[in-house]
Amino acid sequence: MEQLSFIEEKYNDPRPPLALNWNLWHGCTRASTGCLHCYVYRRDESIGKDPTILHKTDNFNLPVRRLRSGQYKGMYKVPCGSHIYTCFSSDFFHPDADGWRNDAWEMMHERSDCTFFMITKRPERIADHLPNGSTYKKGEIPNGKYYVSGVDTSGANSWVQPDGDKCRRTNSAW
Ligand code: SF4
Repeated sequence: MEQLSFIEEKYNDPRPPLALNWNLWHGCTRASTGCLHCYVYRRDESIGKDPTILHKTDNFNLPVRRLRSGQYKGMYKVPCGSHIYTCFSSDFFHPDADGWRNDAWEMMHERSDCTFFMITKRPERIADHLPNGSTYKKGEIPNGKYYVSGVDTSGANSWVQPDGDKCRRTNSAW
């Protein structure tokens, strides 16, 4: 994936940041009792769709899409500094998405000016599925702001947050 410089644009984007959803893939399988009332299942089953089949969505590359016309032609469609709710119609760390996740990390790296927030029911998979791309070493988290939270009915949250190039893991409320 082409790496584009965002630095100049970061400081020249006059548009206000947005809060938006980025459902880059869809579908999931239940991982715990916390999944019992999953809205993805409820919604898919109401339209006769199998919720257990993961597929990439048309919005897979949303954060790195650029405007083709208008006043801000050439700029990212998603304004700089936006807060992006990531992968809320699946689980970012689902095994069936292992082949797609690295491209997602690359896009988040490119949009380091934004904040990415995601939740997972598979926190045990986080450490082994951090980026493994050409622009950073295996396990090194890209620049930017990420909030990854594993939440379950136990009330225990395990979350990771980049601290420079390192990734802290804690168990605490947030
Ligand atoms: S992990 Fe999330 S999306 Fe997947 S089944 Fe459980 S509640 Fe639904």
